[in-house]
Amino acid sequence: MADISHEEPITYISPLVYLIGAGPGDPGLITTAGAQALGRAAVVIYDALANPDLLNLCPQDAQKIFVGKSSDRHTMSQDQINQLLVAQAKKLAANKNLQGRAVVRLKGGDPYVFGRGAEEAQELFRAGISFQVIPGVTAGIAGPCYAGIPVTHRDLASTVTFITGHQQDASEDSDSTQTIHYTALAKLGGTLVFYMGAKNLPEITSKLIAAGMDPKTPAAVVQMATHPEQKTVRATLESIAEAARQALIKPPAITIIGKVVGLGSELNWFQTRPLFGKTFLVTRTRRQASELSKQLLALGAIVIEAPTIELAPTPDINTVDRVLGSLKNYHGVVFTSANGVEAAWRRMRELNKDARAFPDRVAAVGKSTAEALNQIGIAADVIPEEFTGENLAAELIKRLGNKNSGKLDGLRLAFLRADIARPILTEQLRKAGAVVDEAVIYQTQLPKALGPQAINALENGGVDWITFTSGSTAKNLHTLLPEHLRDAVKKCRRISIGPITSQVLTELGWPPTIEAAKHDISGMIEALLKSKS
Ligand code: SAH
Repeated sequence: MADISHEEPITYISPLVYLIGAGPGDPGLITTAGAQALGRAAVVIYDALANPDLLNLCPQDAQKIFVGKSSDRHTMSQDQINQLLVAQAKKLAANKNLQGRAVVRLKGGDPYVFGRGAEEAQELFRAGISFQVIPGVTAGIAGPCYAGIPVTHRDLASTVTFITGHQQDASEDSDSTQTIHYTALAKLGGTLVFYMGAKNLPEITSKLIAAGMDPKTPAAVVQMATHPEQKTVRATLESIAEAARQALIKPPAITIIGKVVGLGSELNWFQTRPLFGKTFLVTRTRRQASELSKQLLALGAIVIEAPTIELAPTPDINTVDRVLGSLKNYHGVVFTSANGVEAAWRRMRELNKDARAFPDRVAAVGKSTAEALNQIGIAADVIPEEFTGENLAAELIKRLGNKNSGKLDGLRLAFLRADIARPILTEQLRKAGAVVDEAVIYQTQLPKALGPQAINALENGGVDWITFTSGSTAKNLHTLLPEHLRDAVKKCRRISIGPITSQVLTELGWPPTIEAAKHDISGMIEALLKSKS
């Protein structure tokens, strides 16, 4: 082994630098150790192949540095990346305020599999900087797996070989300076997994055939493996290069050659999920969208979030403070949204109040509202979402009112709501005899624009479904779109959460393709699965 000299180590209880494998794309494939290390990041230096969603695991103040490269564009040379790591580690070590935090190097797949992670670690060692390496799920294992291909199989393959397909290009930044022995590979058989081979596939396959490998050996290419956009092409050794060319395969793609590729579709769990390959435009507030998006993603959909509503602070903090300051003077408090609960709780904490300030009765309309209350230790009386408008008032009166008279005589209620709540609820409660104090706990407003991803997808006809979870998401989308994209919406399928939303959609010229029978997120998912389109 080479004699590597190094400076005096900078000692830390926990290492200063983590080299972490991000996994191949699906953010769920990061290890627990990797996720924990990200949680301590002061700086994170990441690649193009690491899923940027993982950056959400870092503390908010973490500095994020992109050093990605693709086969035809180099943002930073490997040497510059090495230097950057060392410089950031030294800077962090010198900062007493950030003690216990770390520099995280987040690399796609596994840091040591064609990732040049070893060079980075050696550089850290030479600089006397403590580091840990956390392995990741490499694309050569996860890619085949998500395409329904096991890399080994008792009867079909007892070896698996990882090979770089980039080696032909002996440039400075190439990941290998070693020669590949195609004759040996052809003889070895088993499963061959080529990384970075998309461009060189014709050369790789003809060399293997020339070296004596059976041209009929099953072969597959998996592009964007483990992402919702994953694409798999299957053929044989002699035809895979042409098949990949015709399917317009581009990097990142992994090539698998061997008998295991010939196994049947029974292992293809990922690409057979019910919504696989379908693109959904999810309109809602950013926060709420995530619940629906999460469920759609789990069913295999490609999700583009298009927030059409933004939350803004209350226009009347005095009323809010007056109501929150005297919650105990009410018999009950009513929340109709999780956003309302969160806004109220934030303000209560600012006013130095906690859950003890709530009156005896707390009513939540909808499961997500109840869940938000649960988070702050309040088990609310839950009114299901299917009660809307007049029904909702009747249900509330039933639950909060006098058992005998069915009335709310003299009952004082606080109603903490959004600016756009329909007045019917308050009117009905007052009619039943309640004294209702309303406070607008947050406002909703139109975002400045729709995100570029949403615009592009609509422009290219790449959207299959648009989800609408309220009348205002529909109205706001209409306002945010230029005329030609309003027409594009007509060509997509549209799902509405319930009759009120459907009515707004119809008025806008976008009648819903389907309407959820149960008016909540899970009801929408059920309706989508039933519609089979
Ligand atoms: N360290 C990484 C590999 C980096 S080399 C790992 O362990 O996975 C880059 C190559 O990895 C790409 O050219 C491609 O062959 C493969 N790769 C990485 N992510 C991929 C993905 N999501 N789908 C298909 N191939 C992928």
